[in-house]
Amino acid sequence: MDIAGNLSELLGNIPPSVKLVAVSKTKPNEDILEAYDTGFRVFGENKAQELSRKYSELPKDIEWHFIGHMQSNKVKYIAPFVSLIHGIDSFKLLKEINKQAIRNDRVINCLFQFHIATESTKFGFDLEEVSGILDLKEFGELKNIRICGVMGMATYTSDTAIVRNEFRNLKDIFTNLKSSFFAEQESFKEISMGMSGDYEIAIEEGSTMIRVGSAIFGERD
Ligand SMILES: *Cc1c(COP(=O)(O)O)cnc(C)c1O
Repeated sequence: MDIAGNLSELLGNIPPSVKLVAVSKTKPNEDILEAYDTGFRVFGENKAQELSRKYSELPKDIEWHFIGHMQSNKVKYIAPFVSLIHGIDSFKLLKEINKQAIRNDRVINCLFQFHIATESTKFGFDLEEVSGILDLKEFGELKNIRICGVMGMATYTSDTAIVRNEFRNLKDIFTNLKSSFFAEQESFKEISMGMSGDYEIAIEEGSTMIRVGSAIFGERD
């Protein structure tokens, strides 16, 4: 099926309350425009320079998400326009995002990435580490970042019980942080979990945002 067809089928399969980020990494502008021409506007990339190039070449009303591991020295490429950075995995990165946000006179939305998978290759914090950051006086001084929730990636496995358990764990982490640090903050509401292979389970376990690439654009090289 074509990109527009895949996209409309997917949108028809998910509840309207769940936000879809179409992951267009490695894909050419024409593919993004095919989705764009259906009226869809939310795309995700995982390389800062590729995202910056696509931003400059494509329509300006696209809402761009950064979904992967972000290196501090690359934040400057996307700070002027990025809508949400999903993968905050160090305090150093958060400080750099705040600095670049100040330079661009804006507030940048961020999600803390949690390491919920058994695979050691995946990035992310545990609850204790994030609680430690949130308690820092220095964290309170970062006025140009807004923490909007959490993000995680499940283990790549066909064992759905493992995947479900990991998503459930991320939801518990979200609930815990919400009640202990963000009870007064309406904007802390996102649970970014679910990809092409596991978004249905993620939605059942409380995902508010899914990041789907290959199920829309086809396999990547
Ligand atoms: C590539 C990627 C996705 C999308 O993966 P698909 O399996 O193609 O849907 C989602 N999240 C992150 C962080 C990614 O890097």
